[in-house]
Amino acid sequence: MIKYYDYAASTPISEEVSLAMKPWEQQNFANPSASHQAAIDASEAIQLAREKIADEIGAMPSEIVFTSGASESNNLAIKGIAFNHLDKKGHIITSSIEHKCVLNACSFLETLGFEITYVSPNSDGVIESSFVKNAIKENTILISIHHINNELGTIQPIEEFGAIAFEHNIPFHTDAAQSFCKVQIDVDDMDIDMLSLSGHKIYGPKGIGALYIRDARDSELVPLIHGGGQEHGLRGGTSPTPLIVGLGCAVETFPSHKSEQHRIFDELINEFDFKRNGGEHLLSTTWNITFSSDEEVKRFFSKHKWLVSQGSACNAMTNTPSHVLTAIGLDENQARRTYRISFPPYRG
Ligand SMILES: *Cc1c(COP(=O)(O)O)cnc(C)c1O
Repeated sequence: MIKYYDYAASTPISEEVSLAMKPWEQQNFANPSASHQAAIDASEAIQLAREKIADEIGAMPSEIVFTSGASESNNLAIKGIAFNHLDKKGHIITSSIEHKCVLNACSFLETLGFEITYVSPNSDGVIESSFVKNAIKENTILISIHHINNELGTIQPIEEFGAIAFEHNIPFHTDAAQSFCKVQIDVDDMDIDMLSLSGHKIYGPKGIGALYIRDARDSELVPLIHGGGQEHGLRGGTSPTPLIVGLGCAVETFPSHKSEQHRIFDELINEFDFKRNGGEHLLSTTWNITFSSDEEVKRFFSKHKWLVSQGSACNAMTNTPSHVLTAIGLDENQARRTYRISFPPYRG
């Protein structure tokens, strides 16, 4: 039987989320910015979702700005800071194993004259905080490093990056698309100034996400989408009530225990010859494994008709070894025998 084990690429919408969204699709479809009662109802539902998301990361509801997903949130955080420094430009620190949306936003900024340092991970996929500290320059305007790596499942020491950034008075942004709800996050304890999250990685809908922005009302971020003043003027566009309510419900109902399915995985370890990549601090549901030989790959896939990912979904089209696997030192041969198997996520 064909089974889907690519939950790091996307999850289904849960039953609870689907039900929560329904009333806002056809019954109460009012534009939440209007002033009549239907609009007030929608805007209250949006506010409730904002509170749930803020609570999850120890933030204030007013610091949550809704976007179309983590890609947009990352773009808003990075370009939003950069566009505020267009006169003198400046220097940005990120890592070489970010999601493509961060890497491509940064390489775009290079064409505008910004300088970017791409810090490399060690062979475990961990970005060492000393490397980040050493990369800081006089004109560093932003540090942007992800929380959990989407290909490896490696949990980065973001509280150390946050502390370093705070000490140097540099804003710290983290892409938390793979960690939000799955591991504990507190934006104050971790000195996080901006945090990106996405709905469809946590059983919420696709096309919705958010950017946490410390003191968003006084933010100096330059918006990417100028509009009618929604989201403190930081992100124009009519608020999509069903998607936002769905995201709030996804946070509220995110499962707190592993499911039966996870048992299968424990059995794999005894049955096949592979090495798990990504070091010691790993998300329990994302497994990046390199099989010992091509025969072992064949044996695995003839037994398990699983939908899994080679590299990440974003690289699948290009047939080149993923930038993450290359960065941790895998050669083309090893990369070809490497797969990411990701199980249904839960709070853990
Ligand atoms: C999925 C993912 C994204 C993109 O999120 P979208 O909501 O699909 O735009 C960005 N970063 C990481 C780490 C991701 O896993």
